[in-house]
Amino acid sequence: MGIIAHDLGIDLGTSNTQVYEKKKGIVVSEPTIMVLDADNTRRVKAVGGDAKIMLGRTTEGIMAVRPMNEGVITEFDMTKLLLEFFIHRAIGSSYLIRPRIFVSYPCSISAIERRALWEVTMAAGARQVLLAEKPFVAALGCGLPVYEPTGCMVVDIGGGTTDVAVISLGGIVISNSIRVGGVKMDEAIINFIKREFNIQIGDRTAEEVKLDLGAALPLRDVRRARIRGRDMVTNLPQTTEITSAQIYEAIREPCMAILNSIKWVLERTPPELAADVMHNGIYLTGGGSLLYGLDQMIATELGIPVLLAKEPMQCAADGLGNVIENYELLESLGRTSFLKTI
Ligand code: ADP
Ligand code: MG
Repeated sequence: MGIIAHDLGIDLGTSNTQVYEKKKGIVVSEPTIMVLDADNTRRVKAVGGDAKIMLGRTTEGIMAVRPMNEGVITEFDMTKLLLEFFIHRAIGSSYLIRPRIFVSYPCSISAIERRALWEVTMAAGARQVLLAEKPFVAALGCGLPVYEPTGCMVVDIGGGTTDVAVISLGGIVISNSIRVGGVKMDEAIINFIKREFNIQIGDRTAEEVKLDLGAALPLRDVRRARIRGRDMVTNLPQTTEITSAQIYEAIREPCMAILNSIKWVLERTPPELAADVMHNGIYLTGGGSLLYGLDQMIATELGIPVLLAKEPMQCAADGLGNVIENYELLESLGRTSFLKTI
């Protein structure tokens, strides 16, 4: 039985969850999904990657649950089970001292929703829970000089939320958070195909189409793909061909919402810090930033360099790791004011 006290960092995203363990790095990286028995027992059949494989192919008697929506816990008990599973996966279950857990959260959530995040992490077995805003830890994960007097801008585009923040002197100076991310792009594709072709497609198909054909800029060479869905008139399986130009049209609105959120923050950024951002560029993190051409579209629209993080989907967890590894030092320097308890 381990007598060491574990420190964990958990980036509980709408789409994916990462767990960072002190001195080990990221030890869990899985989709935030679980599959359960649909009867009253609600027994967990699969969690994470195994559950995602079953998604869309769920037969009778089982159901898929995504316990987070737009960065907010929608099912407390399910989130608790999911966290317990991931914590167990990271450090096992035979520890004497419960772990201290650092958790990231999107700026858009309310104080009550943040409290729920604290409570669910405590309920899942934490001894102490410290919360940090996602763009701040994402900036740390990108290696940005967040404690310096210079201004850096980070845009974290996750599954359910996009957080835009300007950071300086160890804190967020100004931020904006919208409930738009990769999932809204998938939904936009579903609605487009429903409208144009009268075909209903599933979430998984929509995401696959986005990864395959999606772009934030019109492509010079049009690409095509065949998709399968259900004809809404006959209710029978149906296939159709779609082009990258159509998908570009379909996801334009969420892309514009992200651009406008960045503009909103820039317009309200103090002039000296805005000058730093113009000079140093805007950093993109989160899986949504991998959308083809999104970096270029933002750079062109704003006339500011845009840099894509090296491992965009891991930045927040890496940033939490940075906090964990340096926690004593940060405390002695008085640099932990970005961490909140409830
Ligand atoms: P969260 O932290 O909110 O769970 P992630 O940072 O893991 O979100 O990003 C997940 C989102 O990124 C999903 O909506 C996924 O479809 C999207 N995504 C991942 N890779 C790409 C890509 N290459 N192009 C476009 N979107 C992508
Ligand atoms: Mg994430």
